Amino acid sequence: MEKLYEGKAKIIYPGPASGTVRVFFKDDATAFNGQKRAQIAGKGVVNNQVSSALFRYLEDQGIPTHFIRQLSENEMLVKEVQIVPLEVIVRNRTAGSFSRRYGVEEGRELPYPLVEFSLKNDALGDPLIEGDAALALGLVNGSELSRIKELALKINALLKDYFAQRKLELIDFKLEFGKLLHSAAPTDERGAIVLADEISPDTMRLWEFGTGEKMDKDRFRRDLGGVEEAYQEVLRRVLWPEQPST
Ligand code: UDP
Repeated sequence: MEKLYEGKAKIIYPGPASGTVRVFFKDDATAFNGQKRAQIAGKGVVNNQVSSALFRYLEDQGIPTHFIRQLSENEMLVKEVQIVPLEVIVRNRTAGSFSRRYGVEEGRELPYPLVEFSLKNDALGDPLIEGDAALALGLVNGSELSRIKELALKINALLKDYFAQRKLELIDFKLEFGKLLHSAAPTDERGAIVLADEISPDTMRLWEFGTGEKMDKDRFRRDLGGVEEAYQEVLRRVLWPEQPST
């Protein structure tokens, strides 16, 4: 089947209907802007199932997403969108590039969730970008930018709670949003901002409650070992039945 696009961790194929695409999740892992590469056995299956479960949960909670349905172990069907060229990062505790940039230890609790933007541009190494600069460059308009921030914070609150029920703390994560532009989209949805891409242990930091054990891609980035096991454990907990809310 002809590919529409191949990225570092996913391949996009045409979907069965116009305005839809199939997303295939690969086992390939890259870090440090593609300088470190390896395969993580079973990662594609984990990331597809985790992403599918999270998109379903978020949709149920009123968040608009590109998700239509899971097609197989490593494929999902989504609405075709035009990706907004911003990586939207939400942080609950300091870690990673935030700690390096400001010289603060990892794990400090932030007084409120922070939303940051990076320009999606591998050649430039995805530099941090101000909301105002994104506006000035015409990457988004004002209402799209406020909608993206609003959705990112709502998604953070929902996912924090979701993972807390699974004894995992959501430290930070990256989101991508898209615009529904395809003529197959219902008229009232056209131009709407929806959550897109993936949400998986590749794109989130998850620390185990109590032990602080890293259960995400940092195990690969930092050569901590037990990479496959951590991904499998995240999937196992995502598949835990929902607790009835009290
Ligand atoms: N992240 C991502 N893709 C990127 C950059 C970051 O999915 O290209 C995720 C990363 O896994 C983490 C969060 O976004 O959960 C914040 O990452 P950070 O800016 O700290 O960068 P890193 O330490 O990964 O360089």
